[in-house]
Formats: sequence, C-alpha cells, structure tokens
Amino acid sequence: MKPYLFCPVCSKPLAEGIIDGRTRMFCRDCGWVHYRNPLPVAVAYTVNRNNELLVVRRAHEPAIHEWALPGGFIEEGEEPFDGCLRELMEETSLSGTIDRLIGIYHRRVEMYGSLLVVAYKVIVDDHECLSINHELSEAGFFDEHNRPKINIPLHRHIIEEHNRVTHLAGTSGNPVL
Ligand SMILES: [Zn+2]
Repeated sequence: MKPYLFCPVCSKPLAEGIIDGRTRMFCRDCGWVHYRNPLPVAVAYTVNRNNELLVVRRAHEPAIHEWALPGGFIEEGEEPFDGCLRELMEETSLSGTIDRLIGIYHRRVEMYGSLLVVAYKVIVDDHECLSINHELSEAGFFDEHNRPKINIPLHRHIIEEHNRVTHLAGTSGNPVL
C-alpha cells in the first residue's frame, strides 16, 4: 500500500515525523495524522452436515488461482460474524450459522498491507445451494483426503488450529461469539 502524500482533510503536503513512538505521516497545517491500522477481514471455515470443508478457488488477486477459505473485508458498522456470513453468501450463495470462533490473526499482504483476520467455523444450511460469484473460479465441499491443496499459509494455519481445538475438545466445541 502506498503512503499518502497529501492531507485528505486540507490537501497540503504531508510531513514525516515520530508520533507515539512510530514514524507516521502528518499534516503540519491541520494536525491530521495518518494512523495506519490493519484492515479487518473475516474468514469462514465452512462445513456441511457431512463435515466436509468448503474450499474455493480465487479468481482475483491476491492469491489468484489459489485454493482458499472464503472470506472478505468486514464493513463499517458490521458485526464480524455478520461480515463472515455475508461474505460467504456473496461468494457462494450459501447461508449458514456460526459454530464458533477459531481465532484472530494478523498477516501482511502486498496488496492491502496489514490485515486483522477473524476466523469462524460456519455450518451451512444446505450445501446444494452452492453457486459462486465472479470472485471465484471453482468451489466445492471436500473431505480431508480429497481436498485441493491450500497453499495460503494463514488458511492452512486456520485449518490446523480448527483441527487441533476440535481434537482437544473431542467435539466441535462451544459457540463463542
Ligand atoms: Zn491537513
């Protein structure tokens, strides 16, 4: 992500300085400071009633053509779990319910910079409703032996964490919203 060069409030050129212990761009004229925060993303570890995992093939950057878990940016004013279910619906036409929170993670991607990723387990109502939008090229439910290889490190990590907690609990765990 490129840094801002001009103040978005008063249009004057920004200066660089140390503010609150970090190098930040700020406006000498109006005092605006560019605090940079991670963008919030929701990821859906989605299973059907047979406990098969939904994996989707991305049709856009970042990670174009890679198999992944569905997800996307949380909108302003939106509960993270609502954002998770909305993204799932937009990309795959699937509705579902949140089973539990798997974890919260940070990662950095070239295209967007810093991301704060909230991963939920979702159980879909009817997997036969699967229909993908333009963001995806393929999607399907797979058991762990027939699943396409997922190369995105964070998504692999989410799957491992899900499996570890499931194994420890001996069940699918308790809902944590
Ligand atoms: Zn300014």
